[in-house]
Amino acid sequence: MLQAGLMMDRPLLISGIIEHAAAQFGDVEVVSRETHGPLFRYTYEQCAARSRKLANALKGLGLEAGSAVGSIAWNNHRHLEAYFAVSGSGMVMHTCNPRLAPQQLIYIINHAEDAAMLFDSTFAPLIKGIAPYCPKVKNWICLSDAANMPAIEGVSMVCYEDLIAPHSELFDWPEFDERSGAALCYTSGTTGNPKGALYSHRAIVINAISGCLPGILSLSPSDAILPVVPMFHINAWCIPYAAPIGGARLVLPGPRLDGASLYELMEGERVTVSAGVPTIWLGLMQYVEEHGLRFSTMKRTGVGGSAMPAALIAKFVDNYGVEVRHGWGMTETTAVATMSCLSPKNRELSPVEQHAVIARQGKSVFGTEIKVVDEYGATLPRDGVAQGELMVRGQWIVSGYYKGEVSPLVDGWFPTGDIATIDAHGVMQIRDRAKDVIKTGGEWISSIDLESAAMGHPAVAMAAVIGVKHPKWDERPLLFVVRKPGKTVEREEILAFLTERVAKWWVPDDVIFLEALPVGGAGKVQKGDLRKQYGGVFS
Ligand code: ADP
Repeated sequence: MLQAGLMMDRPLLISGIIEHAAAQFGDVEVVSRETHGPLFRYTYEQCAARSRKLANALKGLGLEAGSAVGSIAWNNHRHLEAYFAVSGSGMVMHTCNPRLAPQQLIYIINHAEDAAMLFDSTFAPLIKGIAPYCPKVKNWICLSDAANMPAIEGVSMVCYEDLIAPHSELFDWPEFDERSGAALCYTSGTTGNPKGALYSHRAIVINAISGCLPGILSLSPSDAILPVVPMFHINAWCIPYAAPIGGARLVLPGPRLDGASLYELMEGERVTVSAGVPTIWLGLMQYVEEHGLRFSTMKRTGVGGSAMPAALIAKFVDNYGVEVRHGWGMTETTAVATMSCLSPKNRELSPVEQHAVIARQGKSVFGTEIKVVDEYGATLPRDGVAQGELMVRGQWIVSGYYKGEVSPLVDGWFPTGDIATIDAHGVMQIRDRAKDVIKTGGEWISSIDLESAAMGHPAVAMAAVIGVKHPKWDERPLLFVVRKPGKTVEREEILAFLTERVAKWWVPDDVIFLEALPVGGAGKVQKGDLRKQYGGVFS
């Protein structure tokens, strides 16, 4: 018979994170770039006090455990306070992506039954448009002080600072089951309506602890972390929870995510670690190169959300001494599920080979397991060659969608819709999204590999590849290129460059030069938009 362990059964709750930080790292700073005005700075102790004030204020509005509170906001200190106050009170923090189409925003706000909405003044025009269609939202709360309140005709709203001002800094965080819903984030809904991933306290807390591990982001009081990944996208990969657990300074970038603004913040605030999608690092690298700058404190950066091209990894590592941690995850996996890391053996490889290792999405982190399966669901060998759908399960993987009737799971595993290989050492490589893979003459071409190869050309700033209907081959690849400022490169040169790097039948049939690629709220290239516009060019 099994013996019960004789350990206390204390629940893993989000309120515990901010109280831990207040008690242990009370003087560690949170720095926040305001939507209006200069940098704001305070400590974890002050952040905890204001989170408690907000918890009292929300209670005063009649909200209770189980209520959903939405946010449409940048990464800033008021949004951070809401992360703790809302979930800590037993309510559900529903972060909304402001770049969703207004109809989709209205859909998710109604679907989540948000009773209050916290929003940045930047989004006042958006709020004006959606508010009439969100009847359940009784409280529109602008994350602002009185001086910077926007006027929104027809919407009665309250100023955040006025709302919390009269309330006490003391609040008894309730204790409840750690499996309760803490935060809600909807997928971007490229097919059908967005679907809600409802993260439990337990999932977030253990994911955040894992984020502090040396092989992941390695967060400790010696670090200052700048999460560029938005707090409206998968809880900013749980960094707002991980930083106070590890005791790292937290530097929040507000609305300015361009290369110049990020560089200024990294240097000014002595940032040691950051995290964001590859397009952000492209912008930053371009700025740093153009101005001949160096990083004086940055040690490493976490990157994911889409594949990080090897050429960009090489620049960060070789030219700037910034280590790249390349992870994979999705809305349904709370945050990071796999992470690339060099093993001692990998460190004996040439720099180019090491970058190729980092360009893969890495090993599953403790708490998650992965496998790849064929179209019949049979597990494929871990040989680095057999490719199939990536399946994931673990402590912080969704078991179902919010109010979803049908379970997405297959034999207890979540099917990701990504096509991947796993090698004998457990290193996973995303070959493509199932919907992006190019099916040509019965074979598959990885759009990610082609993009990565094209990005290796010195005149290419950004590249995207889509499969386009072809009368003979079913689909053929079409390459989109954004040139680097001041550089000239033409179709033939790019195609010749690719011919030397990929199989002949992979070389795209054409190249289209664009001023910019369509990019969504989370900073990812929107291939759906490209397909809509260019999907018929070979027919
Ligand atoms: P969406 O991108 O559809 O808005 P998610 O943020 O949930 O929504 O995206 C998850 C998807 O992003 C994964 O299924 C995968 O296709 C892609 N992805 C995430 N990280 C990586 C990575 N490191 N390399 C390649 N693709 C990635």
